[in-house]
Amino acid sequence: MRDFLLNAEDKAFREDARRLLTAQLLPRAAAIEEREDWDSVKAAVREMGKAGYLKLMFADLYRGPLKQPGLTHATILSEEAAAINYAFDTTIGTALSCAYPLHRHAAPQVRDRYLHGIVEGEQVGAIGVTEAGVGSDSAGMQTRIEFDGSRNEWVINGFKRYISNASVADTYIVYGITTDGVPAQKGMTALVVPRSAPGISYPRNYHFMGRRGCIVGEVEFRDCRVPADHLLGERDSGFRIMLGMFNFERTILGGSALGVARSAFDIAVAHAQTRESFGQKLGCKQLIWDKIAEMSWRIDAAELLTYRAAKLYDEGSLSPKELMKPASQAKLVSTEAALYCADQAVQILGGDGLTKEYGRAEQIYRDARALTIVGGTSEMVKYLIASVDLPTLKPNL
Ligand SMILES: Cc1cc2nc3c(=O)[nH]c(=O)nc-3n(C[C@H](O)[C@H](O)[C@H](O)COP(=O)(O)OP(=O)(O)OC[C@H]3O[C@@H](n4cnc5c(N)ncnc54)[C@H](O)[C@@H]3O)c2cc1C
Repeated sequence: MRDFLLNAEDKAFREDARRLLTAQLLPRAAAIEEREDWDSVKAAVREMGKAGYLKLMFADLYRGPLKQPGLTHATILSEEAAAINYAFDTTIGTALSCAYPLHRHAAPQVRDRYLHGIVEGEQVGAIGVTEAGVGSDSAGMQTRIEFDGSRNEWVINGFKRYISNASVADTYIVYGITTDGVPAQKGMTALVVPRSAPGISYPRNYHFMGRRGCIVGEVEFRDCRVPADHLLGERDSGFRIMLGMFNFERTILGGSALGVARSAFDIAVAHAQTRESFGQKLGCKQLIWDKIAEMSWRIDAAELLTYRAAKLYDEGSLSPKELMKPASQAKLVSTEAALYCADQAVQILGGDGLTKEYGRAEQIYRDARALTIVGGTSEMVKYLIASVDLPTLKPNL
């Protein structure tokens, strides 16, 4: 049953979001997919900003019709956007992941300077965690951040890769090590870095199999300097800030994956009901029923876990540590469901599923593959889930 955990206001928001995305994203989706047209992405982001949709996580800034905006609505927005175009959805997801620590942890003057452009949809944000030698093992980060007291500035040296919005972002949240000789959990710091900072460069963008239109690339920092007040939270508190962001990001990713899974399912169901094979509709075959049933329960499980995580977050009674398991479960089950549904949709369509000539199944298949890797791989979120269930055992990572 759709929207089981959503109230009337949430459901009305879904309708509004769907209407706006149908008007503003759908007509641009072909240009984003076929030409990787950044102007189309940017124009649609601007429309989301105008509608107040990039402020859903920030009740003090939001001025729209919702009485209690929050993660539930940001997740609905992501689901609806990803159902149309996952690449666009990643751009707004990344913008929100940048805005979130800015809103919570930046000094007031820094927050005022960088947050508004992002949540108004006029600017784009990016997050810099991943490095060449460090992906899942973010505690092994090599980027160094030092404080230069003589100029009252932070100095960053490091090389980040796989950064969404890399060469097009206006503002970056960059994580690096400030204190050696202690675990990274106690020696990592987060900074706000504007595009204009001296010493920042973009060596290259990557060519991915999917998510066409979302720019992902490298960002290098060579003696890159930002003023002292561009610190987020306190020195050496970066790991805690990063973990707080992951709960929110993984729940939103649950929504993205759900949108991708739903699209694949709709394509498969439509085909099964129209395609004739051996004198009958394809959907009459038991082996096809099996696939449809399997896709269907996976989508329902994904939806329940994703909106459970969002609702728990919005209720505000759980600590970030307590939210880690529901957010990780939402991410794991939804992204695995998306992968399964994208694969089975292609299988049900047969040759039609492999070509661009017969619709979006092949695009969804390519797009879905990133979902179990970004924002914490399936393997890593399983460690997080089991760490709650086996609290006295240390995992052999
Ligand atoms: C399209 C895209 C966009 C991205 N956007 C961003 C972004 O905006 N900002 C950012 O900072 N990063 C971003 N990333 C990076 C992403 O977060 C990493 O790719 C991800 O965390 C995995 O890291 P890795 O690629 O280095 O793989 P690795 O960490 O090298 O892992 C490779 C494989 O080994 C498995 N593995 C690793 N360790 C273990 C273990 N102990 N036990 C069992 N299995 C293990 C992993 O699960 C994975 O399957 C993006 C990546 C992609 C593909």
